[in-house]
Formats: sequence, structure tokens, C-alpha cells
Amino acid sequence: MTAEYDVAVIGAGPAGASAARIAAEAGCRVLMLERGVLPRYKTCGGGLIGLSRAAFPAGFTPPVRARIDRLTFTLDGRLSRTWRARSPFIDLVYRDELDAALTDAALDAGAKLQEGVTVTGLRSEADLVRIRTAEGEVTTRAVVGADGTSGRTGTYVGVQIAQVDLGLETEFAWPDATVGDWAGRVLIDWGPLPGSYGWVFPKGDALTVGVIAERGQGAATKEYLAAFVDRLGLGDAPEIRSSGHLTRCRTEDSPLFRDRVLVAGDAAGLLEPWTREGISYALRSGRLAGAAAVAVARSEGDALSVATEGYAAAVEAEFGAEMRAGRRFHTAFSRRPGLFHAAIATAPPAWGLFRRLVGGETSLEHVAAHRSMDLVLRALSR
Ligand SMILES: Cc1cc2nc3c(=O)[nH]c(=O)nc-3n(C[C@H](O)[C@H](O)[C@H](O)COP(=O)(O)OP(=O)(O)OC[C@H]3O[C@@H](n4cnc5c(N)ncnc54)[C@H](O)[C@@H]3O)c2cc1C
Repeated sequence: MTAEYDVAVIGAGPAGASAARIAAEAGCRVLMLERGVLPRYKTCGGGLIGLSRAAFPAGFTPPVRARIDRLTFTLDGRLSRTWRARSPFIDLVYRDELDAALTDAALDAGAKLQEGVTVTGLRSEADLVRIRTAEGEVTTRAVVGADGTSGRTGTYVGVQIAQVDLGLETEFAWPDATVGDWAGRVLIDWGPLPGSYGWVFPKGDALTVGVIAERGQGAATKEYLAAFVDRLGLGDAPEIRSSGHLTRCRTEDSPLFRDRVLVAGDAAGLLEPWTREGISYALRSGRLAGAAAVAVARSEGDALSVATEGYAAAVEAEFGAEMRAGRRFHTAFSRRPGLFHAAIATAPPAWGLFRRLVGGETSLEHVAAHRSMDLVLRALSR
């Protein structure tokens, strides 16, 4: 039987949009299936680090709402320290705007999009995959599962998860967050729960205030957000929206494919374990999955396993060492947040390192491999 599409991509977040664009650019017949209607809301700080900016398609202009060159650090509301960088090193976006723009880039490359369509099941046959939706069935030679943390494809592939966190966010209307004290400034608060932190991201006409902590302590995480909001004096600011979302990090040997189905981004548990930064992971793994899906669509027999194993190897090469380093930072930070704060708030070299990490001038992998940092991380993790 002939499949209707070469590549079907489930989910139109940064991972899905990147995969669809790459596969369409390679000349494949590509269909994107998205449960929401774009632009759709996504609970996310919308912070773009250097690695995210570097992973956008050539010529792509992200819909940036604010450019950040100042960072205030606090330790559960205390010991505030603000640093200023020479130039902006974080950009802030609204995810509905970013994801719609990335999807437009995929459509420009020739992909098709069906919105408001929820995938309800997958079935692999000899040389194709049947995708079930409420509207009917789609047949395809290859699938990229980019349907986020609680999507179907992660379960289908058998993704194994090592770390689950709960992020809570409230957006407050703020007449003009580009002027006054929030202009060009974000706040990061190392939180009271192990491994937790909070943030204030000013974006044009709103402040995104959020916290993240290990799942399983929902009440304490809510309390942390409420106290954080109170301390910021935002208790009376008009609330636009409050929402929560899980983040998930894969185990090191978690599967990344099954038959002709590859997973990318949050669906694969690809997320930086310390900061829970996921947009760059989604963009980068989406690109890898798009290229691998082209090979899968064109493969039979042994060539199919070369294509799928090639995807697993490419993901390991891109993210393996980085996620291992992120886990080390996460363990050390969870045990000794006060020491992290003391270093970053008082020592210009520690702040400089953080700024270069966020700006994409160095990587966690590189920093953790440095002999003195390796010793520090070992000592803090005991
Ligand atoms: C509170 C919070 C704050 C965060 N802040 C940041 C940040 O500032 N910077 C950063 O880099 N990362 C941040 N992250 C992480 C980041 O949001 C994710 O890692 C990123 O969105 C992953 O992109 P994705 O394309 O894999 O999945 P998603 O963006 O989740 O996209 C998945 C898509 O699949 C669709 N879908 C789901 N199920 C189906 C289905 N059955 N059928 C069809 N479509 C389906 C969804 O509607 C969605 O559009 C944050 C996460 C949280 C929870």
C-alpha cells in the first residue's frame, strides 16, 4: 500500500515545526497534525538562550518582546544582587507567537498543517504507520512525535523518564514592561524546595512569573509561587492567566524510536535537567528528527534500522554529555542552593560564567569538564 505522506509530524511546537521544515526542505510530502489552533497558548517562560537563537532557521526573525541585559538573583527573596551584561544575552518571546512563526516557516518550506486535530493512536505496519485521529486515519512512511510531555508518541515509543518537575506560571498585565524597573531585566530566585527556582520575565505588556520544583509537592510549589508573587508586590496586579505544566527529562538509555516513529523535544524527554530549558532542545532535536525521518521515509529493511539508529546516535552526540552535565549541576544545586547563590551573587567570574552559559558562548558540558568545576561539583553533590 502507498502511504499518503512521507513524513507526518505530531505537534506544532518548536520540535515539530523544526522537523516538518527540514523534511519539507528535503522534498518530502509532510503533514503536521496539531491538537490546538495556532497561535495556541503554551505554559512557558519563553526565554530564548543563545543555543535557541543559534538553532533558528537561516533568515528567521523570532517575535522577540524584550531583550535582556540585566539579571537579578535572589535566594528565596533575600540577598538580592543585580548584574548588568555589556549586551543583551536573553530574548523573551510569547510562545504562541514563536510557535506560529516557526510553523509558518515549515509551511513556507512546503509542509501541510491540519489544526484542531488530536492524534488518538498509532499503528505500525510493514512499511508505513497508520495515525488515528477523531477525523479519520492518515498513512505515512515516517512519523516525528513532537507532542510534548504528555503526548501519545512518548508512550508509544516507550520513553523512560528520570526527572519530572512541575512548572507553575501566572501572567500579570503590566502596562509597559519595557520601561521602569523591569526594562531589560529578569529576576531569578533560587527557591526553598530542593532544585526549585522562580523567575520574572517582563514581556512588553505582561510579566510572566513562574516557579518550578520537583513533581509530587504541588501544595508547596503553589505556596512558593504565592509567596514569590506577594514579595514582588504583584498581589493586586491584574492576572491574565495562570497555568501549570510538567517538564520531563529522559533516562540516559531511553528509546528514541520504535519502528518508523521517532520522538523529539519534550516528547522524547529532551530537556536540560538543571534549568529545565527546553526550547533549544526542541529546536535542535526537531532538526535531527526531521533529517532522520527523511531517511526513514526512504528506507526499507536494514536501511530502516540504519536510519533510526543514526537518529539515536545523533541525539546522543548532540545532547548526551550536555544532559549528563546538567544532571550534575542539578544535583549540586538541589543540595546547596545557598552556595550557588553566594558564588553567583558575589563573584564576578561566577556571574560571567553564568552569562556566557546563557548567552551560548560556552556549554554546561564544557564547564562541568573543567578540572576545578569538576571538583566543586563532586564536593557539592556529596
Ligand atoms: C513553566 C515552564 C516554563 C518554561 N520556560 C522555558 C523557558 O523560558 N525557556 C525554555 O527554553 N524552555 C522553557 N520551558 C520548556 C519548554 O516549554 C519546552 O521544553 C518546549 O515547549 C518543548 O517544545 P516541544 O515542541 O517539544 O513541545 P510543545 O511545545 O509542548 O509542543 C507540543 C505540541 O503538540 C501538541 N499535541 C499534544 N498532544 C497532541 C496530540 N495528541 N495530537 C496532536 N497534537 C498534539 C500540543 O498542542 C503542542 O502544540 C518551560 C517549561 C515550563 C513547564
